[in-house]
Amino acid sequence: MPKKIKKKFNTLPERKLKVAIAGLTSCEGCSFAVLDLGLEFIESIDHFDLGDFHLIMDEKPGKKYDIVFVDGSPLTKENIKTIKELRRRAKYLIALGACATNGVIPNIKNYIDKERAVRYQYPKTFKSVYNPNILPIRRFVKVDAEIAGCPIDARDFVAMLNSLL
Ligand code: SF4
Repeated sequence: MPKKIKKKFNTLPERKLKVAIAGLTSCEGCSFAVLDLGLEFIESIDHFDLGDFHLIMDEKPGKKYDIVFVDGSPLTKENIKTIKELRRRAKYLIALGACATNGVIPNIKNYIDKERAVRYQYPKTFKSVYNPNILPIRRFVKVDAEIAGCPIDARDFVAMLNSLL
């Protein structure tokens, strides 16, 4: 274990906690902010069993996690199914970034003519487009903590990992 990390933690759990970083609909900027930590990300995650990170590996369906970070908004029926499924598989579910905590940019659609917005984007298929109001993930499932920002400050992600340890 790197000395720098050893110093950060007074006690460590007996087994590595299983962590996933999953994504719904978003620009993925918050997950990239985590990845941009570079060496610091690698050192921090060394304490954990990283079972899924949607930017760098395929999801392992059905795997249980101690902690799941989720970025993005639940915009589609598939996203809503995914967030409920992730909740069932996680002891702690953490909303990562403003898309997850309040719907941020897609949320603009809630304040304009939704039908018009979808027709503009999908002129031929707008009638078949699922077009709900954009809601934070806590409106669908219990969320244990939230990290704010668009994108997040990745140091908040590291601090959250440390506090969960
Ligand atoms: Fe991208 Fe901002 Fe959403 Fe993060 S909160 S995924 S940076 S739009």
